[in-house]
Amino acid sequence: MRDILIKAASEVAGQIDLNGYAGNDAGSVGAALLTKDGNIYTGICLVLACGLGFCAEASAVAEMLKHRETEIEMIVAVTDDGKVIPPCGRCRELLTQVNRGNLNTKVIISRDEIKLLSDLLPDTWADKT
Ligand SMILES: [Zn+2]
Repeated sequence: MRDILIKAASEVAGQIDLNGYAGNDAGSVGAALLTKDGNIYTGICLVLACGLGFCAEASAVAEMLKHRETEIEMIVAVTDDGKVIPPCGRCRELLTQVNRGNLNTKVIISRDEIKLLSDLLPDTWADKT
């Protein structure tokens, strides 16, 4: 499944020209996630010069939520040059807040390393409330 997700994320990654503005970035990172129900959803990043934007993982989560699913089995983000990258801190928190069970999500952080989200986000505030 790891390779299928990496391929799915790679397929949606790729720069999209947004009016030629140097500060705009769309598609430099793609993400793919597998839900507990066995569905795969993808997303791309969007970062605009005006400060608006979101990561590819957030985009994939939005796609998942459209289908009324919240539990993620595995997730990956891949740059448009094929590098697997771990989620930023904001996305780690996002995954957890969508469903607390996602602390058990397998996160592909490199082509040969997978960690649980709970290992990437220890002592989450939600555990203390
Ligand atoms: Zn992020």
